[in-house]
Amino acid sequence: MSIVATGATGHLGRHVVEQLLEKVPADRITAVVRDEARAADLAERGVRLAVADYNSPETLGSVFSAGDRVLLISGNEFDKGRVGQHKAVIEAAKAAGVALLAYTSTPGSLTAALADDHRGTEEALLASGVPYVLLRNGWYHENYTENLAPVLEHGAVVQAAGEGRVSSASRADYAAAAVAVLTGEGHDNKTYELGGDDAWSFAEYAAELSRQTGKEIAYSPVPVETYTGILAGAGLPGPLAAILAGVDSSIEKGELVVSTGDLSRLAGRPTTPLADAIAAAVKG
Ligand code: NDP
Repeated sequence: MSIVATGATGHLGRHVVEQLLEKVPADRITAVVRDEARAADLAERGVRLAVADYNSPETLGSVFSAGDRVLLISGNEFDKGRVGQHKAVIEAAKAAGVALLAYTSTPGSLTAALADDHRGTEEALLASGVPYVLLRNGWYHENYTENLAPVLEHGAVVQAAGEGRVSSASRADYAAAAVAVLTGEGHDNKTYELGGDDAWSFAEYAAELSRQTGKEIAYSPVPVETYTGILAGAGLPGPLAAILAGVDSSIEKGELVVSTGDLSRLAGRPTTPLADAIAAAVKG
C-alpha cells in the first residue's frame, strides 16, 4: 500500500511529495514521473519512482497496487486530449483496486472552457466507481507572481478581468489539502471547493506590487480579445491564449472566488496571503 502522486516533478507535485515526506515514511510514497532523472533527488531520499506517461496506457499498468491512495494531478498538454489521458490513469487505478483516487480539478463555479477537461475527468472518475475525492483547486497565486518581468518592465498589470476578484492561494496550500486527504480519513467521495481565504482585485494586486517594489504599477484592464492577442503575441498558441483569456472573463463574473473555507480547513491553517507570494517573487 502506497501513496501515489502523479505529476511528481511538476510544481504542485513537488510540493505534495515534500509535504508527504513530513508525514509518512519515504518508502510509502510513490512518485509517478515521466523522466526519472528529474526525480533522482527523491529516489535518493527513499521515495519510490514509477515511470509512466498519461499518453501510453501500457506504462500505467504496473504503477498502482491494491489499496493505494492516489493523487492524479491534472496534465498540462492541452492539445493531447486531457480527458482521455486522465481516463487512462483512472482505468489503471481501478484495475489495480486502489482505495482512493483524488483528482486536482477546478472550481465548480468556473464556466470557462478551461473547466471542460476537468468536468469530463470528474464524470469519468465518478462513473468508474473508484472511491474518489474531487480537489477543486482554485487559482494559484503563482499564475501571476511567477510572471512579474513584463509587469515590472511596463509598470502595468494587464488583464481582461474588469473589477473581478480572485481568491487565489499558493500551490503549497493546495498541496497541503491534497496531503490531508491522502493521509487522513473520512474523505471518500467528497468534493472540496478550494480557494484562498481572501479575494483580491487586480487593482489591489497592482497596489501591493507598487508597495513592495517601490515602482509605480497600475492595473490596466483590457477587453478579452485584446488580452488574447497579447498572450498570442507573447508566444502562446492561439487556442491556449483564448482559453486563458476566457478565464479572465470568468474572473470578471466572480467565478474564481471560492469562499467555502475548505482549503484552510483541510490545510489546518490559514492560506498564504497574496502579499507573501509577491514578497517571495520579488526577492527572487
Ligand atoms: P506543471 O506544469 O508544473 O506540472 C504538470 C505535471 O503534469 C508535470 O509533472 C508533468 O510531467 C505532468 N504531466 C503532463 N503531461 C503528462 C503526461 N502525458 N504523462 C504524465 N505526466 C504528465 O503544473 P502545476 O504543477 O503548476 O499544476 C498542476 C496542474 O494543475 C497542471 O498540470 C494543470 O492541469 C493545473 N493548473 C492549475 C492552475 C491553477 O491555478 N489552479 C494553473 C495552472 C495549471 P513532467 O514533470 O514530466 O513535465
